[in-house]
Formats: sequence, structure tokens, C-alpha cells
Amino acid sequence: MSRVGHGLPMLAGMSRAELEQWAQEQGEPVFRGRQLADWVFHRLELDPRQMTNLPHSLRELAATVLVAPAGRVTAVDAAEDGTEKLLVRLADGQSVEMVLIPAEARMTFCLSTQVGCPVRCRFCASGAEGLVRNLQAGEIIEELVFGARRIGRLPDNVVFMGIGEGLLNLEELLRAIESMVSPDGFGMSPRRLTVSTSGIVPGIRRLAEFGRELTLAVSLHAVNDELRARLIPDGFRYPVCEILAAVDEYRERAGRMVTLEYTLLDGVNDSPADARELARISREHHAKINLIPYNATDTAFRRPPRRVLETFFRTVEQCGGRVTMRQERGSSRTAACGQLRRRHAAGSEDVLSGGE
Ligand code: SAH
Ligand code: SF4
Repeated sequence: MSRVGHGLPMLAGMSRAELEQWAQEQGEPVFRGRQLADWVFHRLELDPRQMTNLPHSLRELAATVLVAPAGRVTAVDAAEDGTEKLLVRLADGQSVEMVLIPAEARMTFCLSTQVGCPVRCRFCASGAEGLVRNLQAGEIIEELVFGARRIGRLPDNVVFMGIGEGLLNLEELLRAIESMVSPDGFGMSPRRLTVSTSGIVPGIRRLAEFGRELTLAVSLHAVNDELRARLIPDGFRYPVCEILAAVDEYRERAGRMVTLEYTLLDGVNDSPADARELARISREHHAKINLIPYNATDTAFRRPPRRVLETFFRTVEQCGGRVTMRQERGSSRTAACGQLRRRHAAGSEDVLSGGE
């Protein structure tokens, strides 16, 4: 059970069974717990005082002894293409981001799993200052609920591609995922949830054992260890061959094709030879390649020119790789993960005003 501050349990982090047990412990019939669960999972309500079919005394009790909600949305940054980024302030004053991405009548939420990130990829704003702390399952669920309340429904897809390396916060991430996919919880389809990892091999194996048909995306970014070492520091970097073996294992056990993400960096990993090798990996490991043109942050890396991006894409395709290129969405201001949080941490201007 997620607990914050002075040890109170978080409503968003409790399962239906835990809510039923909680109601009984308060001397209430078990169906009161079920009502609480319906408010959270179906009506996306985290404030017990708004749960009008509960007795007044129980609402007050729940509002006092459960933390509901622990976080709050303190800024919204809207891009011209409809993408919205929410800054969520957590109970301890830390903050994370979640992004709402509309595309072709579908809504995708991009959620954070940690405050900061211990992997510290050299091109990524999220990892710049390392890990501050893990998110609890309830905090991850609150990101989902804050976004869902904004659009009045659950999203069609969830991608764990916000701040943090989810597979280094696996227990809490799996608890949150269980709540999202359980028919007793939010009841989403596991196939519509994508876990993205920088290639944490033991985590990929655990995810394969977890037994849900989750979609897995692995951030490869480089076709050999030498090049990869320029992008990802030693601490949490696994050898490419071990990552690809874990990808094979995931595909076989979960029955799901894996996506390999490849952030294209000017003059670093964007050569025709890299594209050919990536196509070979795609063929041999039955993996889809998702090319991500780099969003400039305050690092030394640059996005390759358009013609290089196009040549790279076509080369992978012509060499028999399955490849897509990420549409550029929300790239206008603070799209690259971690940037909104960093701007606020740096005390820069408020972004509540929306797009420029
Ligand atoms: N830690 C996980 C998930 C969060 S990052 C992971 O690394 O996979 C999600 C994706 O965004 C990763 O593929 C990452 O490499 C990519 N990314 C990070 N910063 C970026 C930037 N500035 N421009 C483009 N992609 C970026
Ligand atoms: Fe962490 Fe992913 Fe950013 Fe790397 S790319 S620092 S793993 S959030």
C-alpha cells in the first residue's frame, strides 16, 4: 500500500480488496469499500468528501485517515498540436510530469515513474541530476487520474516514457500497472500499456515473468557497446547482446513483439552503416524500430537535419527492418522529458499561461 508523509495510506494506491478491508476495519460493511473503489476506478474521484453516496461520517473519516489525493497539478503547458503537459506537485514538494498526447481520435498518456532518473543518459533532461526518489504506486496512479479527469475518461494508451526508469522502480510500477489492468481496478487492456526501459536486463526478465501482455519498448539508441557507452554512463548500462537476448525472451514469454527505440543524434548514431545494422537487428530479433528525432535540450547533442533523418529511415526500411519515425509532437517548448520540471525547479517563469 502506498503511504506518504506521516504514514497515511494513499487512496489512489489501494486495491478494491484493500478498500473493502479498510471499510471493515472502520466497522463499516464491506460494500462501503466497494463504493469507495467505484468512485476511484470508475468515477475518477480521489476526494472522499465528494463521494456523495457514502455516509457523511465515513467521508470525513476517509478524508482524514487516507491521503486523497496526495499530489496536485500546479502547471499546464499546452502545445499547438494539442499535446498538454501537466506538472504534478507531490506531497513532499517534489514534482513530476505527465503528458496527454491526442492522435487520430486516440488519447495517450505518458507517465513518470521516478523523480529524476539514476541512469543519467547524457542526452536526457530527466537524468541530468540523477535520482531524487522513486514514485509510489499511488503517485503513478494519481498521474493517470489527473489526466483522466482532464479529458473525462481513461486514456486509450498509457506509455511509461516520462521521467524515470520504471524498471529500477519495479515493485511500485508493477503495483500501479496491476491496478490499471485489473478488472477490479481501472480495467485497461495490458496491451495498451507500454513500459519503456533503457535496457535494464533483470527488469525485462521480471516483466516477462509478470505474465501480463504488456507492450515493451527498449531504448537501444546504438548498435554496439562502444557507441552506447558514449550515450549512457556505466552504472546501469547493460551490453547490447544481453539486452537483445532479454528482448527475445520477452517476445517468447509474453507473446509480444518488442519495440526498439532509437533516438537519432546528429553525427553520433545516424550513419547509413548504423541504419543497416539496426535493420539487421530488427530482422533477427523480430523487433519494430521506432526512430525518435532528438529534441534539443541543454546538452551538447543535436537533432540530425531532416534529409539525414529521412535517409536513415529509408535505409532501415530498404534493408528489411520494420521501422516507424515518431511524429514530432509538443516539441515547441518543453516537450523533451524532464524539461518542464527542470524549468520550474530553476524558478523560471510560470507556464500556466499555455502555448506561446
Ligand atoms: N527511462 C526510460 C523511459 C523514459 S525516456 C527509457 O529510457 O526508455 C523515454 C524515451 O525518450 C527514451 O527512448 C529516451 O531515450 C527518449 N528521450 C529522452 N530524452 C530525449 C530527447 N531530448 N529527445 C528525444 N528523445 C528523448
Ligand atoms: Fe533515464 Fe530514460 Fe532519461 Fe535515460 S532516457 S536518463 S533512462 S529517463
